[in-house]
Amino acid sequence: MVVTGISIMAKAQRKKNLMTDEYILEKSKRRCCLCFGLNYDSMRKRGQIAHLDRDPANSRPDNLAFLCLDHHDEYDSRTSQSKSIQTNEVKAYRDQLYQYIESGKLSDSEIPEKPGKKNGYNEIYSYLSCLYNDIGLFVKQYYDSENSRNSQVSKALHERTKEFVPLFGKYELSLSKELYAEITTFFDLLLDYKKRVEGAGAVSINRDVTAYKRWLAINTEFCETSAPMLERLKAALQ
Ligand SMILES: [Zn+2]
Repeated sequence: MVVTGISIMAKAQRKKNLMTDEYILEKSKRRCCLCFGLNYDSMRKRGQIAHLDRDPANSRPDNLAFLCLDHHDEYDSRTSQSKSIQTNEVKAYRDQLYQYIESGKLSDSEIPEKPGKKNGYNEIYSYLSCLYNDIGLFVKQYYDSENSRNSQVSKALHERTKEFVPLFGKYELSLSKELYAEITTFFDLLLDYKKRVEGAGAVSINRDVTAYKRWLAINTEFCETSAPMLERLKAALQ
C-alpha cells in the first residue's frame, strides 16, 4: 500500500511538473531569456526548462526558465567565479522577456526584427572559422591518411556547409556590399580547397612525387591565402 501511495504521489508530482512546464513554454514562447537579455535575440530556440536553483523537485514558476541548449549548458556548468552567469541575472532577463512578450512586441517570425545585430555576425564568423579549421586540417592530413577516414571528414564538412548557407542567407541583407562579397569569396575559396584536395587525393594513393608536389602547393597556398582573409573577417564581424 505504501508503494502505491508513493507512486500516486509521484504521478501527481509528475502531472504538476508537466503543467508547470507547459506554463513556462507558453509564457516564454520558447524564447531563451539569456539570448534575449544578453544578445537582444528574440528568435525561437531549441531549448530546455532550467531549474535555476538546480533542484529538480522545485518546480515553482519562479525557479524555472526556458533556456536554449547552449545557455542551459553554460548556466549548469557555471563555476563560483564572479564572471559566470548568476541566478538573479537569469531571473531579471526572464522577467524582461516576459514583459516584452506580454506587451505584444514579439514577432512571429523566426528572423530577428533587426537582422543587423552583432550576435548574428558573430555566428557567421564562428561558422567560417570552424570551416576554416576543418578544411585546414583536411588539407594538411589528406596526403598522409587513408581515403576512408577522409571521406568521413568530407561528409561532416558537407553538413556544416549545408548549415552555413541558410544562416548566411538570414543576415545577408544587413551586411554591407563589401563585407558580403568578402564572406562569399572566402567561403567559395574554402570549398575550392576542399575540392582540389579531394582531386589531388585520388592521385595520392600512388604516393608519387607529382602528387606530393601538387598537394604541397595546395597546402602552402591554403595557409598563405586564407589565414589573412579570416583575420580580416574576424575584425569586421566580431
Ligand atoms: Zn540562449
